[in-house]
Amino acid sequence: MSFDLIVKGGILPDGTRADIGIRGDKIAAIEPTIEAEAGSDVDAADCLVSQPFVDPHFHMDATLSYGIPRINASGTLLEGIALWGELKPLLTQEAVKQRALAYCDWAVSMGLLAIRTHVDTCDDRLLAVEALLEVKKEVAPYIDLQLVAFPQDGYFRDPTARANTIRALDLGVDVVGGIPHFERTMEDGRRSVTELCEIAAQRGLMVDMHCDETDDPLSRHIEQLAYETQRLGLQGRVAGSHLTSMHSMDNYYVSKLLALIAEAQVSAIPNPLINIVLQGRHDTYPKRRGMTRVPEMLKAGIRVGFGQDCVLDPWYSLGTADMLDVAFMGLHVAQMTSPDDMRRCFDMVTKTSAAIMGLDHYGLEVGKTASLVVLDAGNPIEAIRLRADRVAVVAKGRLVAERPRRATALALPGRPANVHRRHVTPH
Ligand SMILES: [Zn+2]
Repeated sequence: MSFDLIVKGGILPDGTRADIGIRGDKIAAIEPTIEAEAGSDVDAADCLVSQPFVDPHFHMDATLSYGIPRINASGTLLEGIALWGELKPLLTQEAVKQRALAYCDWAVSMGLLAIRTHVDTCDDRLLAVEALLEVKKEVAPYIDLQLVAFPQDGYFRDPTARANTIRALDLGVDVVGGIPHFERTMEDGRRSVTELCEIAAQRGLMVDMHCDETDDPLSRHIEQLAYETQRLGLQGRVAGSHLTSMHSMDNYYVSKLLALIAEAQVSAIPNPLINIVLQGRHDTYPKRRGMTRVPEMLKAGIRVGFGQDCVLDPWYSLGTADMLDVAFMGLHVAQMTSPDDMRRCFDMVTKTSAAIMGLDHYGLEVGKTASLVVLDAGNPIEAIRLRADRVAVVAKGRLVAERPRRATALALPGRPANVHRRHVTPH
């Protein structure tokens, strides 16, 4: 038996050591040692070999546009939306496409091989939709890109958003999005959730709404989203992104709400990097963190995946396509510091988010797509702690990124010649 590629000597996320044999674009064997012939080898000795990173919430039409035409002075969500409105008329299809492709290069280098991106449908030209549909096709050999039709300026609030969102879905956008908390009234927000879920049900699509991304504890559109999911039989196909109002909600109400979300099998996608900077901007002190209630949702049996949301755009001035940054921030803000919780944070930027996106072929198992990342870390917790280097990235059977392992040379009398910051813990 021969293989096209063997990843040798790695440590799987569960701690077992194994070689991984790849044939074509599939994993063909996972065994303690594979002695067979291979077209080429990847040396993963003492490195974590993980399923690739997954970002379930991103905005690829805005990425890498930081500073065009100006920066967000207040740092708020609302100025970000206004700034994006100033940038939109200046966009060209080619510029959006080139920025998105450049970002995908970053993603590959970080082992981020599946991305769900929202794409703004509040533009009669739909040029971002067309640009990202082209990008999706071009990157398909190495990244699974899923597009969400996102009426950024409000499905009812923007005069042509309804028609343009339908046009975007007709063009082949995969998922139905929405922004109920940005509609003019609570009632319009509620109606937008109902109508958009009905569109998804008719078309057999998934739903992923920006939902209650506000510090207003009375923003309760997630309740309607759970209700419509159940009414229309969309269980397992719906996600609520952000859900930050839940941070500020009344505790008694939340105790009812979490059970409704769990019962409807609605997934949650918090975005810790962006929401720790956007939320609480109207507060003095104490200042609310604003991130949704992650440990409580996990305890209630709700599927939760962390998203990145933004990199260098009108809303967020940093970002590197590193989902370990996202897990690191989420772990801190949610205070998920036990070993089990830290491992869960790693799952939330890998396999849980893949499940939210419905990626059936994803995973480190024989027969699944041969996409994986080799990390300079001994286990998932160490990967988060170090925001570990990606030593190698394999996408759909091909080695697509590599970098040398790095140790820092020291010049300290009586101390070792170099330092690597790996550390063996008892867990
Ligand atoms: Zn978003």
